[in-house]
Amino acid sequence: MTSSFSNLQLAPSLARAVAEMGYESMTPIQAQAIPVVLTGQDVMGAAQTGTGKTAAFSLPLLQRLLKHENTSTSPARHPVRALVLLPTRELADQVAQQVKAYAKYCNLRSAVVFGGMDMKPQTLELKKGVEVLVATPGRLLDHIEAKNVVLNQVEYVVLDEADRMLDIGFLPDLQRILSHLPKQRTTLLFSATFSPEIKRLAGSYLQNPVTIEVARPNETASTVTQHFYSVGVDDKYRALKQLVKSNGITQAFVFCNSKLGCARLARSLERDGLRTTALHGDKSQDERLKALEAFKRGEVDLLVCTDVAARGLDIKDVPAVFNFDIPFNAEDYVHRIGRTGRAGALGQAISFVSGSDQRLVADIEKLLKTKIDLEAVEFEEDRPRGRINTGRRAWGEDDPRDVLDKPRAPEGQARARRESNHASAPRVSHDPFFDKPYEAPVRAEGEAVAPKEPLRKSPNIKPKRKVAALFKTVE
Ligand code: AMP
Repeated sequence: MTSSFSNLQLAPSLARAVAEMGYESMTPIQAQAIPVVLTGQDVMGAAQTGTGKTAAFSLPLLQRLLKHENTSTSPARHPVRALVLLPTRELADQVAQQVKAYAKYCNLRSAVVFGGMDMKPQTLELKKGVEVLVATPGRLLDHIEAKNVVLNQVEYVVLDEADRMLDIGFLPDLQRILSHLPKQRTTLLFSATFSPEIKRLAGSYLQNPVTIEVARPNETASTVTQHFYSVGVDDKYRALKQLVKSNGITQAFVFCNSKLGCARLARSLERDGLRTTALHGDKSQDERLKALEAFKRGEVDLLVCTDVAARGLDIKDVPAVFNFDIPFNAEDYVHRIGRTGRAGALGQAISFVSGSDQRLVADIEKLLKTKIDLEAVEFEEDRPRGRINTGRRAWGEDDPRDVLDKPRAPEGQARARRESNHASAPRVSHDPFFDKPYEAPVRAEGEAVAPKEPLRKSPNIKPKRKVAALFKTVE
């Protein structure tokens, strides 16, 4: 279901901003949520990122705040009226940019605060007064404690990616923040799943919420072709390089489960002359933003990342996603591959399955309710001349997983999970939410991503001489 923004009777300042964004019709979450938020009711929304969820809450919220518009320079005339909380800095930054774009022609101020950055510029902005504040919980608490911001006039609070915030352990921070807000307010909660924890959170902080669901978290875009390759741990690196080349992949996210693995892989790829950057939690905030910007501008071809980048980052038209490591949570698989095939573009999701991953792959099969066929990578250098190999193998009675290694030892898994960025404990999905039939998403018609120019060697990178111990190389 899509419908026109003109049905909403948005204020001219907002309608103009929407028109400038080039949106022609509302996405399903927008069509459902905007009219409800405009009435001031609480909302509990299940929507994947990439569905237009940010506009779904920002536009009605801004519309309702227009009555407070003023051009006064007095900070007292610009108290925080709306608070949007997100789990990661990147998401906060991205949502803040969207809010700024929608509020471009309004006299309402917005700002973003997140950790890893100097508090001083944020403090100056807060002290001048802002109507819409986008924040990560930890940094917001720092500002509350430093009395840089007062939240007693908040009318709207948005808990975005709420499940992720709980996974990361932000519940106590959220409870503290919410205790600073007036009881009389509108609360909007968005989450990929309605787990029992999320329902408890909603039960405590939402009043008679309207439930809106538009896309199942276990739904993958039909525009993404998925391949699972059975590859030994030692062969993953050359498989990655070969598939990038043979599939004509111009840009890709490469997901690893640990920060260490991510840093090592990025280093090896760079040494091999691939334009690569790493995005993980050990990078400073500045480095992370720069890495993302370089990738968005096309200066970097491979963004090697942990799950910090898996959720919500709106980078358009990434032709491929590699799961160098199979994620510990099946839901993260869906989020990771959601980075490609966005807005109707075609995407490839390529996953490397090695010995200890069979349980994780079985979890993905369960979540997607589909059988996964394992394929073999035929390495160029191993290929006998003239032989054609479709490479397809299915898990059947002669299950190739039987010959794979034993499952990862629990301690190893726990360690890897601790190392991984924001990785969370495995969740067993008994939620009846997952048992509902899929609803095909309504997607805009889009073009396939045309292969750009092939990967180039970075002029700054010397040819590889030394090989990182972790990876076996082609040469
Ligand atoms: P979100 O799910 O909020 O992260 O949005 C994902 C992307 O969809 C962003 O780039 C938005 O600018 C874009 N978007 C939001 N609403 C619409 C719309 N109605 N039509 C087209 N694109 C949209």
